[in-house]
Amino acid sequence: MRPFTSTIFAEMTALANRTGAVNLGQGFPDTDGPVGMLEVAKASIDAGLNQYPPGPGMPELRNAISEHRARYGTHYDPDTEILVTVGATEAIAASLLALVEPGDEVVLIEPYYDSYAASVALAGATRRTVGLVEEPGTGRLGLDVDALRAAITPRTRALLLNSPHNPTGTVLNYVELAAVAALCVEHDIVAITDEVYEHLVFDGLAHVPLATFPGMAERTVTISGAGKSFNCTGWKIGWACGPAELVGAVRAAKQFMTFVGGAPFQPAVAHALRNELDWVEGLRTSLQDKRSRLSGGLTEAGFSVRPSEGTYFITADVRPLGFTDGAQLCRELPERIGVAGVPVQVFTDHPDEWRHLVRFAFCKRDEVLDEAISRLRKLS
Ligand code: PMP
Ligand code: GLN
Repeated sequence: MRPFTSTIFAEMTALANRTGAVNLGQGFPDTDGPVGMLEVAKASIDAGLNQYPPGPGMPELRNAISEHRARYGTHYDPDTEILVTVGATEAIAASLLALVEPGDEVVLIEPYYDSYAASVALAGATRRTVGLVEEPGTGRLGLDVDALRAAITPRTRALLLNSPHNPTGTVLNYVELAAVAALCVEHDIVAITDEVYEHLVFDGLAHVPLATFPGMAERTVTISGAGKSFNCTGWKIGWACGPAELVGAVRAAKQFMTFVGGAPFQPAVAHALRNELDWVEGLRTSLQDKRSRLSGGLTEAGFSVRPSEGTYFITADVRPLGFTDGAQLCRELPERIGVAGVPVQVFTDHPDEWRHLVRFAFCKRDEVLDEAISRLRKLS
């Protein structure tokens, strides 16, 4: 684990706290989730739901997850095909530990969420990365299907796919997903999908799970969680859905990692999945406005902003301001103007190709974003 020291989120949040900077680095909201959900968590503690829940998760939550996935037309048996985990992070790690052998290769899309590389390493596997590419004209960071095809070898066991994508905000479109699905089927690859931002998609775009494509349901572990949909990142309730054989293996790994996760949060998340999707729609529209607000502010401050189609995040090219290294800029920004961001290069194996981009989180109250924008203007 030597290459995997402190995460960039811990580093940037500590720096922001030390300098009093507006923290647009680590992605977490600064307002609470739906009141009804919070009430169920409190009532669950009062009702004594304070001991170990069942290993696969409380039946009430597994049923609610199954009903929720049905919105995409996918059907999972709550008893055998759904596993509740300690956040999506554990679901990702347990999936890799369970399904990948030492020496196997796992394909990641670059830039990738930081836990992926560490979890692949823990599984004793090798990562192969495929970089998103800037589309001419729009600047959207899209999937290079030819590069993905070229990254597949006889040793490729799994593909880990994240859409809506952190850190770029790209939402993979139907054509991109169909190409990924066809390659997985052709090369008999297991897909592990990270869909934690499934509800946070903007401008009328749709989130389409990879598991809905032909031949994919039987080879896909679909991962999501409550943190991003219901503003409760600290509750760490996630889940994995897939065919019983795959989810059974993931469950076997998970039981020796954490055994179970926080009991009183599980009925609360079940309530939210069943009753709070209107609240989530309000969150989505508000985040879309915040995306535009921060995008406008960054543009005025002199950055060249890449399109963000979903998530909490937007990426900005620092070169028009005369900077060349996003990591160096992120280490200086808090002290210099009182704003924290995260360099995109740390999510890659090719830092030189990504040095120019910095990720900013917009999941913050408007007044916080406005303060950050006014400070960012001092850069030009
Ligand atoms: N995947 C992605 C793409 C993320 O951005 C995050 C960050 N929250 C996670 C997984 C981790 O989710 P959780 O907090 O549910 O473990
Ligand atoms: N998912 C959030 C982000 O990408 C926070 C992750 C973390 O702190 N580990 O910023």
